[in-house]
Amino acid sequence: MQGMLFTEMHNDSSGISVKIKEILVSKKTKFQKLDIFDTEFYGKMLTLDDLVMTTEKDEFVYHEMLTHIALFSHKLPENILIIGGGDGGTAREILKHKTIKNIDMVEIDEDVVIESKKYLPTIAVELDNPKLNIMIQDGVEFVKGKSNIYDIIFIDSTDPISVGEGLFTTDFYKDCFNALKSNGILVNQSETPFHKPQWVSAINNKLKNVFPIVKVYKAEVPTYPSGIWLFEFCSKETDPYSDFNFQRYKDYNFKLKYYNDEIHKGAFSLPNYVKELLA
Ligand code: SAM
Repeated sequence: MQGMLFTEMHNDSSGISVKIKEILVSKKTKFQKLDIFDTEFYGKMLTLDDLVMTTEKDEFVYHEMLTHIALFSHKLPENILIIGGGDGGTAREILKHKTIKNIDMVEIDEDVVIESKKYLPTIAVELDNPKLNIMIQDGVEFVKGKSNIYDIIFIDSTDPISVGEGLFTTDFYKDCFNALKSNGILVNQSETPFHKPQWVSAINNKLKNVFPIVKVYKAEVPTYPSGIWLFEFCSKETDPYSDFNFQRYKDYNFKLKYYNDEIHKGAFSLPNYVKELLA
């Protein structure tokens, strides 16, 4: 890191650089290198293995878009599983829905939870919520053998490399399928079509072999590689268009910074170069 500049390379010739005011924590956990910086423009920023995970300034895009499309499409979301999500942003958004009774959050690295609570209070704000049941273990192992338990599973993981690799396999997706109830939904973050087209195609093919309904949507996350980020909405019978619960959306009247009823539908409109990857 030159002077006080953090750089994440997206390939060997381009990346993102962020001016750092202070290094708040820098440690090697059991699984990965964990850093939290105070940055000039993005506020506090969590990186894992020198890859940007989340920042105070732009985290709302990713956490609102990972969660609310499925939550407003499911008839009655009560019992939820988060795989990963140690910074707490995903849990925070889910808990805004008053139908939620329980969230199991399976995060492999306890240090992410501990340091997020300490340094990312606006993101980790609900990590002590009594409805949230945090389990420190591998999500791949956790879902094995589970059947008919969850309404929605959110895979809020790192990339399909190192400790996150197992969360992008067909066997894992089959285990998640079985762990879902008959009207269950799975949503995952499914990478950047601009820099990792091969990952996007591979993830989509595997999910299409497991779920009858698979629809890809997008959002712009400024600090992620290329800015365009994809998500996969996978379900046994629920359609994000026809099953969108507009009345509940109006009744809740959340004050969100990104997601709204037009985005709920518009996010599924994809550019041609992305559609080709998913054909
Ligand atoms: N929002 C970020 C993104 O989109 O890349 C990811 C958020 S969160 C920081 C990702 C979490 O996934 C990390 O805390 C990491 O420890 C966790 N993780 C990675 N592999 C895992 C596994 N096999 N089981 C459970 N959690 C895992």
